[in-house]
Amino acid sequence: MAWTIVGQGLAGSCLAWELWRRGVNFCIVDREGGIAASRVAAGLVNPVTGKNFEPSPMIGEFLPEALAFYRCIEEKLGVVLWHPLPIMRLAGNDDEWAKMQAKASRADVKVWVGGELAKSEIDGWAGGFEIRGGGRFDVKMFVDRTREFFRAQGIYRKDEIAFDRDEMARVWCDGAAGLVLGRHGEARCAKGEILTVRATGWDEARIRVGAGGWLVPLGEGCFKLGSTYEWERLDMEPSEAGLERFVALDKQADFIGKGAARRERDTGGRLRLRCFTVDALDADVIGDEPIWREGKVCGWVTSGGYAHASKVSVALGYVPRELAGETDGWSIEILGEMRTARLQARPLFDPEGARMASR
Ligand SMILES: Cc1cc2nc3c(=O)[nH]c(=O)nc-3n(C[C@H](O)[C@H](O)[C@H](O)COP(=O)(O)OP(=O)(O)OC[C@H]3O[C@@H](n4cnc5c(N)ncnc54)[C@H](O)[C@@H]3O)c2cc1C
Repeated sequence: MAWTIVGQGLAGSCLAWELWRRGVNFCIVDREGGIAASRVAAGLVNPVTGKNFEPSPMIGEFLPEALAFYRCIEEKLGVVLWHPLPIMRLAGNDDEWAKMQAKASRADVKVWVGGELAKSEIDGWAGGFEIRGGGRFDVKMFVDRTREFFRAQGIYRKDEIAFDRDEMARVWCDGAAGLVLGRHGEARCAKGEILTVRATGWDEARIRVGAGGWLVPLGEGCFKLGSTYEWERLDMEPSEAGLERFVALDKQADFIGKGAARRERDTGGRLRLRCFTVDALDADVIGDEPIWREGKVCGWVTSGGYAHASKVSVALGYVPRELAGETDGWSIEILGEMRTARLQARPLFDPEGARMASR
């Protein structure tokens, strides 16, 4: 049987190399449009990560194996992909520093900690450790050169594959595309920013991580820097927003997003845009407030305000599709206070559209 790897990002590329090494019959395809995480990622490998300063799961086993694997690919392709670099892990405040110090004495953390950073290196920070064993993996070069290699072997092609649950010979390495469609289970999206900058004359060869941000040297005065600062879904699909009637899915010509809109129509999407009236006091929603139900945040407000003609405070927001028919039981958090909200199924103003249609 010939396997098809769908998606040639980091995951698909690694799998392709492993199948190639084992002499398995396969081909690899990628749709090439849009942005793949592997083409923009910073490639930061940090053995002790996150706010909680915890070792990445199974890092002690995975990292040596990954590095041995990448070394083989480097030899095969004649390029340098792995750049070992010390990491400066900085604490934004005293509490975080105390937590990091306590954790650093734990055996599974200690093994990665090189030592406390000197006072002169932590200006403006509460403290910091140097972390060993990390570095930067040049993901973009890895996927680009892997593509060239397998194309030359005649087993890479550009193609967009439609998902088919019954097609057993496909391995889906479609990254976030599959995640947001819920194919690989529940997904949580992080909002972040990433920049590539040039800082001429700044000779920094260490990775810096702290307060949710990071800076990774790429060499020759270039750096990737970024931060992850919010967790929420960033995309809105036509049916979820009630806009599917504006998308001509039967149009013969291809258009950007056609495949995604079709898939969303077929699966029904995960969210629905709904209108709520809110028992607001002296402040209305302005956007991005959490929508609560049964003690959990399950949606977010996109916009709203006071509806003067209807004399009521209104919020529009996304909620899970399966709850989108529930009238009661909602709360919206405004300036840290819970305000009871009620789903408003019909338009508040001129629900029949009679005023618009009048002559
Ligand atoms: C901005 C950013 C910074 C990051 N920084 C880091 C970091 O510093 N360190 C770290 O460890 N991780 C980082 N990550 C995460 C890491 O980059 C990703 O987890 C990893 O690259 C995902 O690889 P992937 O192969 O699963 O997916 P992707 O790289 O998204 O690849 C999926 C591929 O599948 C293709 N595809 C999708 N659907 C289809 C289809 N139907 N038919 C054909 N092809 C299809 C796409 O074109 C794409 O090329 C970062 C991610 C982002 C977005």
